Amino acid sequence: MKQKYPIKIQEIRAKTVLSKSRIPNIDYSLNPYVGCEFACRYCYADFMRKYTNHKEKWGEFVDLKMNVAKCLKTELKRNKPGKISISLVTDPYQPVEKQYRLTRQCLEVLLDYDPSYSISILTRSPLVLRDTDLLEQFHNIEVGLSIATDDENIRTIFEPRAYSISSRIETLMRIKSLGINTFAFVGPSLPMNPENLAQLLVDKVDYIILDKMNYSWKTKNLYRKHGLDYALEENYFNTIGKTFDAVFAGKSISIIRTGKNN
Ligand code: SF4
Repeated sequence: MKQKYPIKIQEIRAKTVLSKSRIPNIDYSLNPYVGCEFACRYCYADFMRKYTNHKEKWGEFVDLKMNVAKCLKTELKRNKPGKISISLVTDPYQPVEKQYRLTRQCLEVLLDYDPSYSISILTRSPLVLRDTDLLEQFHNIEVGLSIATDDENIRTIFEPRAYSISSRIETLMRIKSLGINTFAFVGPSLPMNPENLAQLLVDKVDYIILDKMNYSWKTKNLYRKHGLDYALEENYFNTIGKTFDAVFAGKSISIIRTGKNN
């Protein structure tokens, strides 16, 4: 498979694959890859680079944990059951997954532990649809799509290599139609038309997480360059929250707000 951007792909062997999570309601993080091709400009996971020998920038390398399924099997047997997030520091359905299928291999292992472990998948990619044959067999699983804006121009500025917003909305719709729980991670909240984004999500999700731009120091110049500084104001995030509350009022959809103060 040939990518349209420079990317170094190498096979590695992991010692362990389930990491304890500090995120509320998530017990473990499972990351089949180190690195992420999507290279979002705000990515918080780039700290992972220091655990590698890569000279390349974040977004220019992906390490494949070739033994991820084997390690997972061992660790699931000895760990206390809990909720596993796939993934917190990579995208489990980035393009390399098409060829290497490491996330799919993990799901095959996890099926043997359903429903004692619950699974939460988070991605920006419609490739998750390839695995609906497995997803449908779980009793304790949810699939989330990260959708940080409704505006394709904004998406291109901040997530130049990720899939279009419409393809992610369509993915949510198709997964929900199979009776699988879905959520949208609206984070970090980028400049958007909140009313429009909220309306796009109606009937496609069971809940929504709204996260603010927690890493404004990383993206401040990009905001400024495009005349978007207004969207870094605390008030902007509050307005997004209020709009989502109004659109989903009476619809039994919870809106969870996360994010520290900038
Ligand atoms: S998809 Fe997630 S892990 Fe990948 S670059 Fe974007 S924010 Fe980072």
